[in-house]
Amino acid sequence: MIKKFLLVLLAFTGGTLPAQQIDLSYYLPQNVSYNKDIPTPAEVIGHEVGAWHITHDRLSWYMQTLAKISPRMTLVNRGKTYEDRPLWLLTVTSEDNHKVLDQIRTTHQSWSEDKNFNGKVQDLPLVLYQGFSIHGNEPSGSNAALLYAYYLAAAEGPEIEKALSEGVILLDPSFNPDGLQRFSTWANSHKSQNINPDPNDREYREVWPGGRTNHYWFDLNRDWMPAQLPESQARIETFHQWRPNVLTDHHEMGTNSTFFFQPGIPSRTHPLTPKLNQELTKAIGGFHAKALDSIGSLYYSEEDYDDFYYGKGSTFPDIHGGIGILFEQASSRGHAQESDHGILTFPFTIKNQFNAALSTLKAGISLRMELLNYQRLFYKKLRQNIGSEQVYLVQDENDPAKIKAFLTLLDRQKIQAFRLTETLRLGDQTFTPKNALAIPKDQTQSSLIEAMFERRTKFQDSLFYDISAWTMPYAFNFDYGSAKVKSLGSKVTAKDIETGAKGLQQAYAYTLAWEDYYAPKALDNLLNLGLRVKVATRPFQSKGQNFDYGTLMIPGYNQNKSPEEIHEIMLALAKNHQITAIPSGATSGMNLGSGDFKSVEKKNIGVLVGPGINPYDAGEIWHLLDTRYDIQVTKLDVSALGTKDLSRYTTLIMPSTWGAGPNTRAAEKLKSWVANGGHLIGFRSAAYWLNKHELIQLPLRSAEKTGAQATFEQRQRYRGAQVIGGAIFEAEIDRSHPVTFGYSKDKLPLFRNTTIFLKPDEQRANNPLKYSANPHLSGYISKENLSVLAGSSAFKTKRNGSGRVSYFTDNTNFRAFWYGTNKLMMNAIFFEDQM
Ligand SMILES: [Zn+2]
Repeated sequence: MIKKFLLVLLAFTGGTLPAQQIDLSYYLPQNVSYNKDIPTPAEVIGHEVGAWHITHDRLSWYMQTLAKISPRMTLVNRGKTYEDRPLWLLTVTSEDNHKVLDQIRTTHQSWSEDKNFNGKVQDLPLVLYQGFSIHGNEPSGSNAALLYAYYLAAAEGPEIEKALSEGVILLDPSFNPDGLQRFSTWANSHKSQNINPDPNDREYREVWPGGRTNHYWFDLNRDWMPAQLPESQARIETFHQWRPNVLTDHHEMGTNSTFFFQPGIPSRTHPLTPKLNQELTKAIGGFHAKALDSIGSLYYSEEDYDDFYYGKGSTFPDIHGGIGILFEQASSRGHAQESDHGILTFPFTIKNQFNAALSTLKAGISLRMELLNYQRLFYKKLRQNIGSEQVYLVQDENDPAKIKAFLTLLDRQKIQAFRLTETLRLGDQTFTPKNALAIPKDQTQSSLIEAMFERRTKFQDSLFYDISAWTMPYAFNFDYGSAKVKSLGSKVTAKDIETGAKGLQQAYAYTLAWEDYYAPKALDNLLNLGLRVKVATRPFQSKGQNFDYGTLMIPGYNQNKSPEEIHEIMLALAKNHQITAIPSGATSGMNLGSGDFKSVEKKNIGVLVGPGINPYDAGEIWHLLDTRYDIQVTKLDVSALGTKDLSRYTTLIMPSTWGAGPNTRAAEKLKSWVANGGHLIGFRSAAYWLNKHELIQLPLRSAEKTGAQATFEQRQRYRGAQVIGGAIFEAEIDRSHPVTFGYSKDKLPLFRNTTIFLKPDEQRANNPLKYSANPHLSGYISKENLSVLAGSSAFKTKRNGSGRVSYFTDNTNFRAFWYGTNKLMMNAIFFEDQM
C-alpha cells in the first residue's frame, strides 16, 4: 500500500498546461505490495520525489533512515568529498546474505579469479553496482535512487525475495555529492510555485561553472582509471573489493533527446574489451527496452556514445570482466522544460531512470550464470595469454616523489610493482635495480595494466567520444619499456619510497633539487618566510655531485633569519624534499656567488575564471596549486575584472577560453596590467583571444583541408576525424631554457587536445619546447594534423612593455594525472624573470 502524497506538478501557465498530480504510484510498480514499516521518501525528506531537486543532505538522511530500519540494508561512509560530504555506499541483499557478506565477497573474488574456488557457482550471488548522477546537474539519477532504495527496502513478494537472495546490490546514491548539492540549490532556488517550462527561465540556465563537476571542477566520469580525486578513490576501493558483474552509470543529456542505454557505437569499443562483453550488454539492453516499452517512453541504443576510454564509469568495468552500462536521460535541467517531445517534466525523467534501475536488477538476476561465467572466463583467458616473465618497466632517477605518486595510483588499482634483480638496457635507456619499477604483466590486474601501459597508434574508428590515449608512463614522464626478466626483486609500494634527505648539517648554503615534483611547494614556502632563494641558470658541481639547471640555492647566511633558524627550516623541508648542504661557495662549473644564480621572487598568482573560461582547465590549475603545492591562488572572475585592482598580482593565468573569451573591458585591463609589469600565462584556445587583443603575436598554422569530396552524410564524419580528442606527442626540449628547468632528458611527452599549431620561431632559443619531427607517441591523430604538428612549437614567451606574456599550446595540467608536465607551468610562473 503506498501512502498518497499529492504533488501538484504543473500548475496552469498561461492557462494551457493541465495540473498533474504525482504520488508514489506514478513511479512504483503496482503489482507488488510494500512493507508499511518502511518510511517512504516523502515521510523522511518532507517532499514527494520530484517535487524538489533532492539535496545531498536530504538524500543522506533518507539512506541513513532506511539502513537503520531495513534488515536488507547496511550503510557505510567510505570517505568524504572536498566539501566534507559523506560518500555513502548502501549494500542491499537478503538478511541471510548479510550474515555472511564477507564470505560472499571473498568467494566471488576467488571464483572470478579462477583460483581456490570450492563452492557451487549456482549458489553465488551476482554483484551489481548501481551508481547515480556522477554529473551533479544530471539529477534524475540521484532522485531516482530515493525510489530505488525505497523499492529495495519495502517491496514484498517472490520477485524481490529472489533478487535479494541471488544478488548483492551496491547502491551508490550520489557519485558526486558536491555537484549534486550545487545543482539542487540552483534548481530549487529558482523554482516558481507555478512551474514555468519556458527554457529561457533562469532556472534552466545555470551559471558558470554549473553543477556537473566536483568541487575543483573536475569531470568525475573521467577519473575511474587515474583515480586522483577522493570521490573516485572511494568507489574504486569498493569496485576492487567486489568486482561487480554489472555496473550502471545514470546520466542525462540534451533536453530534446529521449533515453539512451548501451551498447554504444560498436566500432568504437576498445579492442581490449572482449566481444562477448558487448553481446551481454545487448542482452541486458533487451530488458531496458521492455521496461521502457511498458511505460511508453521513447529510447535508443547503439547510435551514440562509446566504450573506449577506460576512465569512464561505464567502460572501467569492461576491463575487469564486468559489464558497464551507460544510461542517458533527456534532461529537464529544472522542474519542467519545453522540448521536442512536449513538456519534459522532472518526475518523468526520474521515472525512466528508476525503471532502468529496476530492469538492470531484473536482467542481472536473469542472466546471473552467464555474467558470472563470463567474468571467470575473462580472467582465465587473460592469464593464459601472458608470458609470466613479461614486465613493463618505468623509471625516474631524479624524482622519487613522482614515483611515489605513481605507486599510490597502482596501489589504488591493485597493481603490484617490484624491483629488478639486474640492470637492463633497452635502446638508449638503462633500467637499474635501484631506480626502476617492474610491473609484471602476469597478475590479477593484467588487463588494466595493458590498458594503462599500452602505446596505441592504430585505430578501427577515427571518432572518439573522449581521449584516445592515456599511456600512463608518458603522463608521468618516465623512462618506459617492456622486457622479459628471469626473476623479480622485492615488492615496492608507495610507503617504501623515501623522498627526503637525511642528516642535513648546518651549512654555508643549501640546494633544493628542482626535479622534485613538489619543489614548487618548498620554494613558495621559503619565499613566504622571506628567505632569499636563487636559481642556477647553469649546471654546477659540489664535492663530486652534479647540480642541474634549475637547482635552487638558499644561502645559509645574510638572510633575515639566523643560520640556525635557516638550518631548522631546511631540516623540516628535508623530510620531504631533496635538500643538500653545500659547505663552500667554491663550487665548480660556477661559484655560488656567480651572477648566473638569479634571484627568484615571491609570486602572487591569480587564475582567471568565470564565463568565457574553460572550467575544467581552470579547476585543474586551482587544484594543482591549492592541493598539491599549497600555493595561494586567487580565482579572479573575468566578468568583474574591469573593476578590480590587479596591481597586487605578479602572475595571472588564463586557462583555455570558451566561446569569445573574456570581454573587451577585461582585455583593456589586462593589457595595462601587463604593460606595467604583470606576467600573463595563457593556454590552448586563449591563443585566439591573446592574438585578437594584441597581447602577444602567436603565428598559427593549420592543416591542409582535404575533405572537399566528402558527401553531405560523410561531411560530419570527416570533420570529426580532424579532431584531436586527446593524444600524446613527443616534444624536444632545450634544457637550458628556464621553462624546462627540472627536466633531465631532452624529450618530453605532451598531452594534446587541440588543433592549434604554433609556427616555430626562426631563433632556436625561442623554441624551448618543440614537437619532434616524428612526434606521434600514442592516440589518434589524422595524417593532415600530424604533418602540421611535426616541428611546431608548444610554447612562446615575449616581453610586452614592462611585463610579459607566455603561451602554451597544450594543457600541461590535464585531469590531475599528467604529473609529467605540471612543472612547465610552475617554471613559467617562478622563472619568468630569467626568460
Ligand atoms: Zn553525464
